Amino acid sequence: MELSKRQHRIIEIVKEKGPITGEKIAEILGLTRATLRPDLTILTMSGYLDARPRVGYYYTGKTGGELFQERLLKLKVKDFQSIPVVISEDASVYDGICSMFLEDVGTLFVVNSAGKLIGLVSRKDLLRASMGKQDLEGIPVSIIMTRMPNITVCFPEDSMLEIANKLISKQIDGLPVVKLDKNGSYDVVGRLTKTNITKAFAYIGTEEQN
Ligand code: ADP
Repeated sequence: MELSKRQHRIIEIVKEKGPITGEKIAEILGLTRATLRPDLTILTMSGYLDARPRVGYYYTGKTGGELFQERLLKLKVKDFQSIPVVISEDASVYDGICSMFLEDVGTLFVVNSAGKLIGLVSRKDLLRASMGKQDLEGIPVSIIMTRMPNITVCFPEDSMLEIANKLISKQIDGLPVVKLDKNGSYDVVGRLTKTNITKAFAYIGTEEQN
């Protein structure tokens, strides 16, 4: 968010004289308190200033970058995740390819008969397994999948920023969103992909209008 000239001026005043009341700031600027109210609201809501009752406004000392990072850390996986698509461990490579097309996803999560996460297959895993093979129905996904404990997972409360960094560092397209059960296995509750990161990015850009 771009601050207006007046908002910059208010920050300067509060930096220099804070804590300072809204009345006093208005007086310095030669404006009424009512004219200033929307600016003060924007500056406190965006974190540049803070206000204490009977004390007034003071400068938080946070830079635009720090405030942006704070905002990013508040975006949680649970607010942006998609529905997971799972297949059973005895499904074939052929079944996997069909699910991927039918469900329009790039990653399938493989679960055992108890519904717990045991692996994952990507588009290229299935492509690789299909090259030069005739009988795709005869190859179980469980022999070609990336398996636990090598699966990178995330949790509903994780921040989107953390997950964006994980996707970059691990060079993968998506992660299962999981909850740990009492036996230490994972229940799959969602899917978090680069598309969800893009949605979070677009959300930040239009946040003021939301
Ligand atoms: P693609 O293989 O279609 O390019 P990815 O880049 O997501 O898709 O996957 C690259 C490799 O990493 C694949 O072998 C896949 O099984 C594996 N992989 C994908 N997601 C994960 C994950 N969350 N944890 C561990 N391995 C993963």
